[in-house]
Amino acid sequence: DDNRILQFRVTEFGVGEQLLMARDVTRLHHLEQMRKDFVANVSHELKTPLTVLKGYLETLLDTIPEEQGRLRRALVQMDSQSNRMEALVSDLLLLARLEGTEANNLNQAVAVHGMLNRMRENALALSADKHHRIELDVPEDARLLANPAELESAFGNLITNAVKYTPAGGHIVIRWWQDDKGAHLSVSDNGIGIDPAHIPRLTERFYRPDNSRVTQTGGTGLGLAIVKHVMIRHNGRLEIRSELGKGSTFTCHFPPARRVSHPAAIAG
Ligand code: ADP
Repeated sequence: DDNRILQFRVTEFGVGEQLLMARDVTRLHHLEQMRKDFVANVSHELKTPLTVLKGYLETLLDTIPEEQGRLRRALVQMDSQSNRMEALVSDLLLLARLEGTEANNLNQAVAVHGMLNRMRENALALSADKHHRIELDVPEDARLLANPAELESAFGNLITNAVKYTPAGGHIVIRWWQDDKGAHLSVSDNGIGIDPAHIPRLTERFYRPDNSRVTQTGGTGLGLAIVKHVMIRHNGRLEIRSELGKGSTFTCHFPPARRVSHPAAIAG
């Protein structure tokens, strides 16, 4: 077969290993691309039937009278599960796009304060019955050269997680700063925390330290994988620090080239 012939030639020429390796890497790369395309296609194909199902469910829920208790409860369950599936499909599609397509539109000057402030309000609404204190420590004129939609997904996931994994009455801080190393966004909480042994694997898709919690929190298991890929596309990185039972800090580090200098700074 192909490989043997190649191996034979290679031994003859005595440059074997590198060539074989190059060949293997090409094949792996090809398989990886096929996997990514497959996930993207499946997600895309699932979207339409799901939308139709959700439409009918909503109509049914609107028309079934209150006294049909059992039927209504079944429909409410179906509705909530189809929402879950929709969130999964949409995160899978987003991740496939982040991994499998060339990054573009990466250099818009994004007004970070406004974006984070909106997210803070959403988070407060989301956690209304948990009475979290959510602090925003972000300069009003903070700007970042980035893709705004991708940034929104990344920051949104970190803030939603802080809300999800922090018990009632907890404290969450969203902080932004710049220095000579670049621009940085951190989301800290004093929530349940993570056993450090799990931290290296947290950004893997569907990796969860404690599987029993999955259905309660309602996440897709893809949030941190999305954050990681957004950071890679922006030449940045995600740093995770946590202590079990004490809380966590997730920090997005952006390289200096993504900072937006102030006119005064340019003039000076
Ligand atoms: P999901 O939240 O949907 O499970 P993510 O990829 O966003 O998926 O997060 C992966 C896992 O990391 C979560 O299941 C949770 O165990 C842990 N995690 C993420 N953020 C936090 C946080 N702020 N505090 C504690 N654990 C967290």
